[in-house]
Amino acid sequence: MRVFCIANQKGGVGKTTTAVNLAAGLAQLGQRVLLVDLDPQGNATMGSGIDKRQLALSVYDVLLESASIAEARQASPQGGYQVLGANRELAGAEVELVRLERRDRRLKSALQAAAGDHDFVLVDCPPSLSLLTLNGLCAAHGVLVPMQCEYFALEGLSDLVNTIKQVHANLNPDLQIIGLLRVMFDPRITLQQQVSEQLKAHFGSKVFDTIIPRNVRLAEAPSYGQPGVTFDPASKGAQAFVAFAAEVVKRLGP
Ligand code: ADP
Ligand code: MG
Repeated sequence: MRVFCIANQKGGVGKTTTAVNLAAGLAQLGQRVLLVDLDPQGNATMGSGIDKRQLALSVYDVLLESASIAEARQASPQGGYQVLGANRELAGAEVELVRLERRDRRLKSALQAAAGDHDFVLVDCPPSLSLLTLNGLCAAHGVLVPMQCEYFALEGLSDLVNTIKQVHANLNPDLQIIGLLRVMFDPRITLQQQVSEQLKAHFGSKVFDTIIPRNVRLAEAPSYGQPGVTFDPASKGAQAFVAFAAEVVKRLGP
């Protein structure tokens, strides 16, 4: 079992789109995938075709240790992977966890109990360094960072890199940045090409070869409760995510 967080302290950069479509892409390649939604907004849950308002059990129950992952996960109807869902209730877990023991290791323990069931676990993190994100980072082997090739992209990254260094030093010696994924890319924009080159100069092989283009089908898919990968398999965005899944298996496979 390999556990990866999809993280970036900025909101709206493509974390959830990456988590959902990478999960579906890996599933298409025959991998057994669990997608953990750690964001109280529940976008990864909804985007996987699961109604966040109807969850009998969620990641909240798992973090508070009143349910196991095997009890709380459910299948994405179209995606071909399992989902540990989230909704607004999860915002309360933050407050409740603070006074509990092993408050940052709850997800890690829960995943270990289900280790035989999944080849890949993808954790969709909220856009903040909260106790929720910390649970993800403590449980993970590495972090996948989706980013847009914009002017301030590199500056934004330094915060995340420092956070990962701190967690690596104090809480989880396994943790590293696995790779940077360029998303919402538009090759006609010169600035994006320049930033993309800067990224490669700075981070070398940590930059994934696959580039995810800006593609409206990826943005439309969540309202149909499906990953873009299954919603419109022929679209450029879907094909890019399937290629990315193959790159992930090749680089990091079990
Ligand atoms: P985050 O989880 O980091 O907040 P999202 O994955 O929710 O970001 O993406 C933010 C918005 O951008 C969403 O409306 C999503 O549909 C859209 N989006 C993400 N990736 C793409 C893409 N490659 N092409 C077009 N729209 C995208
Ligand atoms: Mg999100």
